[in-house]
Amino acid sequence: MSVRVVARIRPLLEKEADKDTIVRADGGENGRPHTIVKIPNPKNDSEDFSFAFNSVYDQSTSQEALFTAEVAPHLKALFQGYDVTLFAYGVTGTGKTHTMRGGLKLADRGVIPRLLSGVFRRGKKITRESGGETTVQVALSYYEIYNDKVFDLLEPPEKRTATGLPLRAEASGRTVVAGLSERACEDLKDFEKLYIEANQNRVTASTKLNAHSSRSHAILRVKIIQTTGDTVRESTASAIDLAGSEDNRRTDNGKERLVESAAINKSLFVLSQCIEAISRGDKRIPYRESKMTRILSLGQNHGITVMILNLAPMRSYHLDTLSSLNVSSRAKRI
Ligand code: ADP
Ligand code: MG
Repeated sequence: MSVRVVARIRPLLEKEADKDTIVRADGGENGRPHTIVKIPNPKNDSEDFSFAFNSVYDQSTSQEALFTAEVAPHLKALFQGYDVTLFAYGVTGTGKTHTMRGGLKLADRGVIPRLLSGVFRRGKKITRESGGETTVQVALSYYEIYNDKVFDLLEPPEKRTATGLPLRAEASGRTVVAGLSERACEDLKDFEKLYIEANQNRVTASTKLNAHSSRSHAILRVKIIQTTGDTVRESTASAIDLAGSEDNRRTDNGKERLVESAAINKSLFVLSQCIEAISRGDKRIPYRESKMTRILSLGQNHGITVMILNLAPMRSYHLDTLSSLNVSSRAKRI
């Protein structure tokens, strides 16, 4: 199991042009990637705190550059049978959805459409090079975890039940979501149609609940099935757009929001504990302690995990940014 924790600082948006920026990428001279995030001490502006990451991407980093550096290198392992798990973590408004989903323009596409494009391309190549002996199938699941309940995003919101979908332990020891739908996908067009529809389901469902999609975790699972004669090799790539890590207690104190916050805080806490344990090489990973980490079997499989901490550069995010830096493991204060 290997884990990388990287940070991505987004640029100011047009409407934020006059805002004071306080987050900086540093380290990695001589053309090497940055490795440090610097942010002032909120109690003393002339002092900086520094946090170390495997890599730090500054505001000039394109979608393509991020994908090329952090995701493309794992495609080979994925087809060799390793699971790949990609998380976007951070405060609401810092660029998680931009990083994962991105925009419609080709250059703006995020990690997910690029991942799928890479998967289809590699799948075709494998089939071609095997003279048609190896076939590659791709199947998608897409679901969200809201208040610790699992909802299928490939199904319309009307089909949701109050309790969500149950989890089931398989004989193999894996935990699966019972009744989760799975759709075969032939190509990028197929995928995009499904993905747009599912994201629409997510918006409709959260509007009904008077909630916001930033309060749920959205998990896309790409299952790759390679068949050669009687031999089947299966692996999974998961891409997770996590709920916002801001301290909701400070901004909102309605009862609903408190329930949401408790669920979000707990699952993000367990996730950070798992990432930390994995990066330390611990035998015991506390993945059983939250639904999300259980379903992802985080710590059970021999796979690759990449955690992307998204950061906004503005002073108005100071305390939330600092707390997200503090909990994202490996981002050790130095
Ligand atoms: P989150 O999902 O973390 O709440 P979003 O992805 O919605 O945040 O980003 C907030 C805003 O910032 C959006 O308008 C998005 O398009 C923009 N944005 C985020 N990251 C970037 C980036 N790297 N380059 C340009 N715009 C970005
Ligand atoms: Mg978002």
